[in-house]
Parts: sequence; structure tokens; C-alpha cells
Amino acid sequence: MSIEEDAYRYAIKNAALHEGKADMGALIGKLKALYSDLSIKKTMEISLEAVKKVNAMKLGDIKKEFSKFDKEGYELKQVEKEEKLPELEWAKKEEVVTRYAPNPNGPFHLGNARTAILSKEFANRYNGKFILRFDDTDPKVKKPIENAEQIFKEDLHWLDCDPDETFFASDRLELYHSYLKTALQKGFAYICKCESEDWRAKIKEKQACPCRSIDPKKQLKMFDQMLKNEIKEGEAVIRIKTDLEHKDPSIRDWWAAKVVDAPNHTNPKTLKNHVWPSYNFASAIDDHLLKVTLIIRGQEHEQNKTKQEFLYKHFGWTYPHGFHIGRIALPNVALSTSKIKAGIEAGEFSGWDDPRLGTIKAFRRRGFKPEVLKQAIFDLGVNTNDSVVQWEKLNDLNRKIVESESERLTFFEEPLQLDIAYSPKMNKVIVDKKRFGAFKAGDVVRLRKLFNVKITKKDPLQVFGDFVGEAKVKTPVVGWMQDGVDIEILMDDNSRKAGLAEEKILEKKPGERVYLDRFGFCIIDKKEKGKAFLRFTHK
Ligand code: GLU
Repeated sequence: MSIEEDAYRYAIKNAALHEGKADMGALIGKLKALYSDLSIKKTMEISLEAVKKVNAMKLGDIKKEFSKFDKEGYELKQVEKEEKLPELEWAKKEEVVTRYAPNPNGPFHLGNARTAILSKEFANRYNGKFILRFDDTDPKVKKPIENAEQIFKEDLHWLDCDPDETFFASDRLELYHSYLKTALQKGFAYICKCESEDWRAKIKEKQACPCRSIDPKKQLKMFDQMLKNEIKEGEAVIRIKTDLEHKDPSIRDWWAAKVVDAPNHTNPKTLKNHVWPSYNFASAIDDHLLKVTLIIRGQEHEQNKTKQEFLYKHFGWTYPHGFHIGRIALPNVALSTSKIKAGIEAGEFSGWDDPRLGTIKAFRRRGFKPEVLKQAIFDLGVNTNDSVVQWEKLNDLNRKIVESESERLTFFEEPLQLDIAYSPKMNKVIVDKKRFGAFKAGDVVRLRKLFNVKITKKDPLQVFGDFVGEAKVKTPVVGWMQDGVDIEILMDDNSRKAGLAEEKILEKKPGERVYLDRFGFCIIDKKEKGKAFLRFTHK
């Protein structure tokens, strides 16, 4: 089927469900999600064409077309997705052990979820093991959050990415010390006391500093002084010997550990520890000790891999297989733990689950299904390209899943009373003020599944009409309700909208979903004193 045909079918579906008027925005979103390679201009052109054509049709003809497509399966064909995750040739001989190694200084977001989801997926595919390992060895700048384990595991569980084992690097400091000691003893690490400026100037010139050749025995003595904090913070660092000629100066003799006088850490066991390994050292040692065979990490760690390979060579170990992956961006959303944290502290965001954020908590709270995030990640494949995940795509994937479980309920943001004279049934109903804005005295409307009313008078607070028969006539159909329930919706921009929904909403339990007519998909948060509180998911 051509894109134009898909667009036409969707416009028909949309118009059939919305009283003959297809929505341009919804169609663009749908096409963008299905044909991500299509330019925005082309998407708009095709959408406009389809919407114009369909909106000029009579409602009866739209419905006829719709029922025809419905029989054939009106849903647009999802463009065939090629399998994007590569085979692991080596997995026939080796076990697949993957790990997700976050720095727990904030809960995780769609950006780092990519590593977690892919790592779990590869472990699943090959009946392997998936490890959660907290890279929490920065007791100065990146202090871990309280309850990191529980917070991360909750999100991982929701994503169906439960780890088989969990480790904290901060529980393993003595282990790193023993490997640092070996490295010093064997002469492939050294304690450097140079002023950092001097050291940098030397390394830039590919020259060794004097500390590099100090005898291992003396090195070990100094190491002991570091452990006892007799050598103070800033006075010494431990470096791993690399190729001083390496083309990238940042690789040359990288730092493996330093002294911290007063660690600021949530793990109480670490507070008396003064020698802290770098991420590169701890992570490299752990990947080996935990028998990790596949490392999936961000492209920004490319240089770190090179650094770590030097250490593996020194120890005579084999470096694990690996993939580097690009960054993910979500339009208009900051995906950076430090930026989010600063925003929360400044009161700009309400918390880690603020609906404007791309954290897993925010997605959960808004009512996204975990499969949606996973699908979006799988669709990106395993590559180093930086990618933008479009909200339309996430919304579209989610809509497909939640559509069938979301009961359609009438909702008015601005309710208006309609008094009906000569009515055989009821003489007062509530209608939508916005919808009635389009009508004037003399127009006839049909109250959905009820009867026809001729508008006689409109004022800002109320509208009046006469009952003019029950027979279906060609006239706009409008929603109505008899009573209503106050509801409040937390929107995706963190604002709150109030309105009136039909009473049935009070039968829904927290976590259940509804589709509010002409508004969008929402999830029930709570009910209090006859009022329902909802969270907006998407249109
Ligand atoms: N803590 C690092 C990160 O969150 C882990 C990098 C790695 O996987 O080695 O980016």
C-alpha cells in the first residue's frame, strides 16, 4: 500500500471516530511514526491532501469507507522492521554475561535505559546472565542517591529487565586496593606526586615524569601512606602505564586511583576509605572478575575502552566483546542526570517523575507501557548513531496497546448547561462550551444517541433549545452528559486541567485507563471526595 493510501485510510478512520472531521495533527503523527524516513514537508503535504479529501466527504460516506476498511483491517500496515540486533557469533563458545553499570547519582532515563534494555536483551537471547553493577566510586562529585538499589530495581523490574545479580563498586574497595597493589608491585602502575600542570606538560610532550621510574618497593610504601591518609588529597594519584606515544594524549598514563580525605558517600562502609579508584580502574577490574563477556556502553566511552585495554594487557586478561551505542535525544526534554537534578533542586521540576522529564519514572507515571520504550530502543538497533526518538512514535506505539483497554468517556473542559424545551425525556443536559461555540441560534444539533435540538438562544453561561424530534437527521452530533464528575488532569507539561467527565469515571480504579473524548488518553491517579484525579498520557 502506498503512503498516500495509508494516509487516506487513517484519515477515514480518524474522521469516522470524530464526527466526520479528521485531525491533521493526528495524521501527521501517525505517518511520521510509520514512515520515519519521510521528510516533514512531504508528510505534511500527504496529510493535508488526505484530510482535505476526507473532510469534504459526507459523514455517511466516511462511515461506509470505514466499515469497508474495517473488514479488511483498516489499521495501517506497520512498515516491516528488519531485525536490527546483531547475532553474536562468539556466543556459541562463550557464555553471554552482560551488565548495566550506572552511576547511581539519579534514577535512570530513556538515554541510559538503552544500555540496560539491550544488555538484558542479549543476555535473554543467549540464555546468559545480566548483572546490575553500580559504578559508585565518586565520593566527591557524584554522590549516589539514597536507596539507589531499590529505585533502580523498581524501574528495571517495570521494564522487565530484572538483574540476575547486583553489585556495588563501593562494596569492593578493598578488592580494588589489592589489584592496585599488584599493579604497583609489578611496575605497570606508579604513584605520581607531580603538580598536575607539570605532569600534563610532560605527557603532552610524550615524556615520562620522574615518578614513573620509582622503585616498586617505594611505591608500595607510598601506597600504604595513601591508604592511611598520611598522603593527603591532591598530593598523589596512581597512574597506569600506557604507551606514552599514544596518539590521544588523554589515554597516556591515565589515573586509576586518588586520595579522598573526607568521602561523601551514601554507603556507610566507605567513609573511612581514602583511596578511591577511578571509574576506568574499578569497571575494568569488575568486568574481568564478574566474567562479563559483552559490554554495551555509550559511544562516549570509546576512549575509556582503550584505556582499560592497557590494563587488561598488563594483567594478561582478555578484554570482553562490546558494542558502543549513540546517544538518544527526546525533543524538548533534558536527558542528563545532572541537569535534571539541578532542575529539581531549583524547583523547576516537581521531582524525578515530573511528566516533562524523560526518566523511566516519568514515563511510568504518565501511563506509558514498558514495551513501548523497549520497542523504540530495539528499533534504533545497535550502532553509534546519535538518534532522536520522536514523541509521536512513542505515543503511537503506546496508543496501539492502550486503545483497547481505555474506555471512551465524555469529557468537557468547559461545561455549559443546555435547557431543552418540549423535551419528552430530560430538559437539562450538560454540553461542551467549546463545541457549542461553533453553533448559533437556529442551528439543529443531535445529542448523541438521544434526540435533536434546535438552538434558540445562547448566552455565555447557558444555552437554550427546543426538542425537534428523535429521527436521525444529517446534523452535527454532540456529546452530552446528565450530571458530571469533577476531574483534574495532570498534563504532560506539568500544568493541571480541570473539567467535567461522565460519572462512570468514578467506577475506574487507580492505574486504569480511559480515553477522554476529544481530549486524549489518561490514566487514573486517585479518587477523593467524589472527584477523580488523572494523568494525561497522550492524545
Ligand atoms: N558508569 C558508566 C556510565 O554510566 C558505565 C560505563 C560502562 O558501561 O562501562 O556511563
